[in-house]
Amino acid sequence: MLSWRFFYFCAMAKNEDQFKKVISHAKEYGYIFGSSEIYDGLSAVYDYAQNGVELKNNIREYWWRSMVYMHQNIVGIDAAILMHPTTWKASGHVDAFNDPLIDNKDSKKRYRADVLIEDYAEKLNIKAKKEIEKARKRFGDSFDEEQFVSTNPRVLKYHSQQREVLERMARSLETENLTDVKALIEELGIADPETGSKNWTEVRQFNLMFGTKLGASAESATDLYLRPETAQGIFVNFLNVQKTGRMKIPFGIAQTGKAFRNEIVARQFIFRMREFEQMEMQFFVRPGEEMKWYEYWKETRLKWHLSLGLGEENYRFHDHEKLAHYANAATDIEFNFPFGFKELEGIHSRTDFDLKAHEEYSGKKLQFFDPEMNESYVPYVVETSIGLDRMFLAVLSNSLQEEELEDGSTRTLLRLPNILAPVKAAVLPLVKKDGLQEIAQEIVDTLKWDHNVIYDEKDAVGRRYRRQDAAGTPFCITVDHQTKEDSTVTIRFRDSMEQERIPISEISEKIKKSLSYKEWLQ
Ligand code: ATP
Repeated sequence: MLSWRFFYFCAMAKNEDQFKKVISHAKEYGYIFGSSEIYDGLSAVYDYAQNGVELKNNIREYWWRSMVYMHQNIVGIDAAILMHPTTWKASGHVDAFNDPLIDNKDSKKRYRADVLIEDYAEKLNIKAKKEIEKARKRFGDSFDEEQFVSTNPRVLKYHSQQREVLERMARSLETENLTDVKALIEELGIADPETGSKNWTEVRQFNLMFGTKLGASAESATDLYLRPETAQGIFVNFLNVQKTGRMKIPFGIAQTGKAFRNEIVARQFIFRMREFEQMEMQFFVRPGEEMKWYEYWKETRLKWHLSLGLGEENYRFHDHEKLAHYANAATDIEFNFPFGFKELEGIHSRTDFDLKAHEEYSGKKLQFFDPEMNESYVPYVVETSIGLDRMFLAVLSNSLQEEELEDGSTRTLLRLPNILAPVKAAVLPLVKKDGLQEIAQEIVDTLKWDHNVIYDEKDAVGRRYRRQDAAGTPFCITVDHQTKEDSTVTIRFRDSMEQERIPISEISEKIKKSLSYKEWLQ
């Protein structure tokens, strides 16, 4: 009999395969290129190509509208990447923005010690899941999952081992006991995932901030950091926004922008980059009310994700065992990437840590006078923080599909949510003569005021359809000889491949209907 291990590795290989396909598709269809590729690239830095930049802009817009336009008490800002260096002392990043790293002495590969341990714990979880699936098959309709999980000795064992491992790691990291982190890796028999070697160095802390200099001469230059998160630009502007916007608590400040981290291990395409973009919102609340808002934002953010239709089963919450120095509760929304469930977004209850620290370091008061309570206080903060690039990867990898057609051929399609698709429609003259090109061009000139559309006349129409399917374009508009007679065109739908004959005058409305923010976000 084949062991679970065999199936696990088969599944992993299949996923790895899928991931490779996503990466090469992203390049072939103009979504993502490696940075400065002609010089062999720069590790973990990427450029967004002609379609990629549109998809990225559309995701950003989808987030911004839902956070800022849909909440009367949330406004946006765009703070600078460079900030006064004391910001990072106050925020704790100079002293504590570290990752515990460990090197393998044989392979010379470097890893994050916490990630090695988390991956080990996830394997225990997968073992438990296998038991559950086996039982589900065995018992059929009468299977009671809840009861099975709480009584089956093997599932209980895997879950308790998983908990123990994560709890011990959290304790050791919190108390800076790096010797115990290494001991844990050794006790669990964790090997280098690439070579199988267990010959490890000690665990060390590594600061992730990129340093840079401001000023003309080396002597007078000031040491600065490229911001490792956008949040601090919001905190230092808290009072500016509150006063000028006459904001009353609770209120939020949203921001999107670049952040930089000198990641130790950056091997998963755009999942972990050294230069990336965040979409963050800090929500300022009355002290003591933070847990209520923490729950509210957990629910609201999950709803946003689900609105895109990437599949409810692909999301899960992962509550943090080890809390960051500023947090009293934290959870991740994890997504089922081709390499498994990983963090997509963080929701953190950050207490009053940041504002208090900035008060202390700047000597300026960062408080709110609450007229209802008739007192001033430093607000508490609930943060939602999502990586735009990770969201891009979630959308792209989930949308790339291969479909077997009735004639036995395979069709590659990028089933992007229409609202996010880079190009909404391609306008195609059936042939390059008889005046069809001119009519198609006129249609482009009319549609371009409302939508991002393209004109495509190269190759047979069937090939053009396939090209647009693979690029993620939801609609193809074909101009044929009948168009000259009755001003109608065919509109072809990417997902169903169905075609409909409609008047030219109705095209724009038809496309618009599938792009209503109200429909998508509600
Ligand atoms: P991880 O544990 O994966 O390193 P994190 O917990 O350090 O992530 P946060 O500091 O909470 O991440 O940042 C918020 C969001 O920013 C993350 O949920 C993720 O989507 C994104 N993010 C963080 N680091 C990177 C990176 N190196 N590349 C791309 N996106 C990132």
